[in-house]
Amino acid sequence: MKFFRQITSNWNEEQVAILRQYNIKVDVGIGRFNIYDLSLYKELIPLFKKWEINLDFLGQDFTKKEILSADYCMIKSWNLFGYPMPDNDLGYLYHTYDTKNMCDECGIGKYQIDDFRVIKVPKYPIWGLGWIFDEFFVRTDLYVKIFKPLGVKCRPLRKYKDDSIIDSYVQLVIPVIEEPLDLSTYDIDLCPKCGMTKYNPKPHGYYPLQEHPLPYIYKTKEHFGDGFSSFRRVFVSSYLRDLMIENGMMRFRHFMPCAKSEELCTKNKGMMEWLKAG
Ligand SMILES: [Zn+2]
Repeated sequence: MKFFRQITSNWNEEQVAILRQYNIKVDVGIGRFNIYDLSLYKELIPLFKKWEINLDFLGQDFTKKEILSADYCMIKSWNLFGYPMPDNDLGYLYHTYDTKNMCDECGIGKYQIDDFRVIKVPKYPIWGLGWIFDEFFVRTDLYVKIFKPLGVKCRPLRKYKDDSIIDSYVQLVIPVIEEPLDLSTYDIDLCPKCGMTKYNPKPHGYYPLQEHPLPYIYKTKEHFGDGFSSFRRVFVSSYLRDLMIENGMMRFRHFMPCAKSEELCTKNKGMMEWLKAG
């Protein structure tokens, strides 16, 4: 794994010329580049500060082998398609979730009590909806082949507005683990209203793993996101990850490898230096 800082800005001619002196090639206009050399990054920080660059984050490249040799992975990215309905005034929220205990500041405290409604479905084997970052919809034949034999439950997906069941896809019902994660290297937001904690969703390095992960697929106890957005991270075991890849549902780069506490420090060697430099 290699760490890098990704820097994005609307570059002007003077900045482009200065960056070129450091062997960084970027064009005038909106653009980004990655810096893999920590000492070079440290050298450039004063410039970035002077230029008031706010889009700067720590990223990492994993090799395919690193991802595929992890016992558990976090689902990092997936195809998004459409929005839950009704989509005006957060209508879907009150139709799909019990919001009695939901905090209207941070969005924590809701739980699903009804099926999602959508206008149409894509052709993807697995996908998620906009705004909802911890629920997945899976082609029904793939659910029956892969998830059902593992005991993963599902629920229907419905068509907006007639509420008919869409036969071609189901929603996975993903259990939530009780055991907390060690997220001590992540920034937190404390909700001023309910006092609940939300973690920065941008991952860095190998992702932490619980000591006793649940089998196959589950969600974290912790919440992530900012503002009113609140979601849980979804983890999968190597067995399910490999099945999803073999069946063309996901690619290896959609996953981020996890490591338990005792291995995390070694695996994320050098990460604290990068984090501190930010
Ligand atoms: Zn709150």
